[in-house]
Amino acid sequence: MSEILLSGRGVTKKFRGLTAIDDVSFDIPHGAIYGLIGPNGAGKSTLFNLITGYHPLTSGSITFRGKVLGNMPIYRRNQLGLARAFQIAKPFPALTLAENVRVGAMFGRPGDKNVERTTQEALDVTGIAHLAQRRAGELTVGDLRKLEIARAVATRPVLLLADEPCAGLNPTETEEMVRCLRAVRDAGTTVWLVEHDMKAVTNICDRIIVIDAGKKLAEGTPHEVVNNKEVIAAYLGTPAADLPAHTP
Ligand code: ADP
Ligand code: MG
Repeated sequence: MSEILLSGRGVTKKFRGLTAIDDVSFDIPHGAIYGLIGPNGAGKSTLFNLITGYHPLTSGSITFRGKVLGNMPIYRRNQLGLARAFQIAKPFPALTLAENVRVGAMFGRPGDKNVERTTQEALDVTGIAHLAQRRAGELTVGDLRKLEIARAVATRPVLLLADEPCAGLNPTETEEMVRCLRAVRDAGTTVWLVEHDMKAVTNICDRIIVIDAGKKLAEGTPHEVVNNKEVIAAYLGTPAADLPAHTP
């Protein structure tokens, strides 16, 4: 059993009357690729927002690298090695890809003596090194999404949270993103992703956590999860055998 990198105990978040996350516990081991799935509004993005420190917890606790995060501000969590890739990539359109990634390397890791090497490694691992001198404003949506991952990777995270990295991508771009995330993990960063594309999520993840209406519904290997009756009823709506080979 590998060392636990991130754990949550009784994590709960209330927005006035609404309990968006309800007593959720989890353990994410070092070196894994985990998935987080569930219906729209289940609380997936909220859970990531609690981990990154965008929202305070109502109750429960989150521990990262042995430290209870408590009220730790977002930038300190970043410095501890927590990074998040946003679905809406907002690069500097007039800068080249290399320059955009360099910004991540410089501001994500102040004092990094090897900014050029960090930048190159982030471009290499995400598969966009051949586009390094192109301007971000000229990119396709698939390459933009990889740039977003590269900017996060350039901060040298220990854990990367990716919220729907394949949303809006075509099947080819989705396959490339799966390859990109696997390469990020193989380079030593643990990955936890929210993803609707069941083919992508079952293909890439070691284990998947399912939430529904703020509660943890199931956790297991992709095979266990897609065959779980409660998961089928709440989310998949169709037995695993009937799942389409690919949902664009
Ligand atoms: P998911 O990412 O699984 O689609 P979200 O985490 O975005 O779901 O939302 C979970 C629930 O919490 C939804 O009912 C949503 O409306 C609510 N919610 C999310 N953020 C806020 C907020 N800042 N204020 C109030 N309600 C919120
Ligand atoms: Mg969401």
